Amino acid sequence: MTQSRLPFPDNGRVFCIGRNYTDHIREMGTPEDSLCVIFMKPLQSLVRPEEPVRLPRDRGAVHHEAELVVELAGGGRDIAEEAALTHVRRIGLGLDLTMRDVQSELRRKGQPWELAKAFEQSAPLALLQPPPEDLGLDAIEFGCRVNDELRQQGHTRDLLFPVPRLIAILSQTWHLAPGDLIFTGTPAGVGPVSPGDRITVSSPQLGSHTWYLT
Ligand code: ZN
Repeated sequence: MTQSRLPFPDNGRVFCIGRNYTDHIREMGTPEDSLCVIFMKPLQSLVRPEEPVRLPRDRGAVHHEAELVVELAGGGRDIAEEAALTHVRRIGLGLDLTMRDVQSELRRKGQPWELAKAFEQSAPLALLQPPPEDLGLDAIEFGCRVNDELRQQGHTRDLLFPVPRLIAILSQTWHLAPGDLIFTGTPAGVGPVSPGDRITVSSPQLGSHTWYLT
């Protein structure tokens, strides 16, 4: 079985990274001098490429955050940064859908982000594929359109914490296992979406995928 024919992840964990692109940290108005944020979503929050996405209702603004997603083949504990990329199985594009008003309120109160980040269908994930052989994971360009309007453009060379570093950091706390996913953070341009919208994520290296919002 080739790597691209492996099934959609049905085990493993969904690790998410916040504050990983300077331009997004600036647009959020949060301090630039702190570390990245690590949070998790339930595996059940993943949305398959062909599924519609039902947005939460009456919870304030829901924002798109387009991100490079990395699937691991395993790795275990205390992985050295230099060896980290050998544990990457596939990569793809995903959305870290975020209830922004709820998140702002939680942030104000100093509370955890689950209600804003870990809700049902909050993690649409496009097709995962083996990383391009001739490129590093720091050479992936991607974008996000909402109804054909270009909202986000990112390049993984701008990651404050590049993928090998993220794998090393996560492995200091968790035993990384096959099927674990890392949503690596979003560049600037996040904004609200509504039922009826369609969101397209695309990359010259990874292709393009559209979700329909209901
Ligand atoms: Zn995010």
